[in-house]
Amino acid sequence: MAKILDGKAVSLANREEIKRDVASFIEKTGVTPCLAVVIVGEDPASKVYVRNKHKGCLEVGMRSIVCELPYETTEDELLSIIDGMNSDPEVHGILVQLPVPKHIDEKKIINKILPEKDVDAFHPVNVGKIMIGDFDFLPCTPAGVMNILSHYGIEIEGKHCVVIGRSNTVGKPQAMLMLHKNATVSVCHSRTRNLAEITKTADILVAAVGRADFVTKDMVKEGAVVIDVGINRCADGTLHGDVDFKDVFDKVEAITPVPGGVGPMTITMLLRNTLTAAEKLTK
Ligand code: NAP
Repeated sequence: MAKILDGKAVSLANREEIKRDVASFIEKTGVTPCLAVVIVGEDPASKVYVRNKHKGCLEVGMRSIVCELPYETTEDELLSIIDGMNSDPEVHGILVQLPVPKHIDEKKIINKILPEKDVDAFHPVNVGKIMIGDFDFLPCTPAGVMNILSHYGIEIEGKHCVVIGRSNTVGKPQAMLMLHKNATVSVCHSRTRNLAEITKTADILVAAVGRADFVTKDMVKEGAVVIDVGINRCADGTLHGDVDFKDVFDKVEAITPVPGGVGPMTITMLLRNTLTAAEKLTK
């Protein structure tokens, strides 16, 4: 029977620590860390994410600005709003909720955010820093995964870590963080041949695929640690991860549930990045 890696509890512990750090930062500098989130359009899932980010900020004692823009907002209008936030000394972190509407070029938006305020760590400067292992901001979801592993004392060095997924937001930075911790890393994707043969050799398997219950018992090694990044809303309204939790449960040593695993960690890491930005920008 597997040990359940409780991301909700790890997240709560982290938030308590961030709350204390925010309070002592405010006491020392008189500055309140502030996150500005921009959302364009009415996507319901994005609205929930933005609401949770706003709530998270307030809970740890930070300021939160939510800028809600109509779907018709032009690229130029959005760029000029980001410009204003870049030069506002009271804003320390800026995040544009993705995806943006199709008429807006996502790359241009990401590139416009000042790297020092890019708390999502999506700007090419920050991506490059992650690549060379000299970073200020950790990519939020992969950082959440690393935090859970470290909280439970799961050693990474020397292990074979297999990441399924190579997105810029999850798979690639996840692989990089594990490499920096001296793992041997394999990255799999939709063109990978004999996927199960590779995943079965993983000591630590990270699934970031975006397909409900994709990883099954025949794809995991006995005693592996399985981290499920997936969040998939199924037709019946239930949330499923990328791993078939019930199927693999008896075979693996430890596993993150969905919900309550990696999900709660992502916003927590964003809050930590916002405090880091405020610390760096306040001299
Ligand atoms: P994404 O951009 O769609 O990337 C999915 C990756 O999975 C791609 O690299 C794709 O390969 C690969 N893939 C798809 N089908 C595959 C197959 N049959 N075999 C092997 N690989 C396959 O998704 P993402 O943004 O990385 O997100 C992944 C999952 O994590 C989603 O469920 C998302 O909702 C969830 N997520 C959770 C959090 C959180 O806070 N917990 C944060 C972000 C994302 P190709 O590159 O070849 O297409």
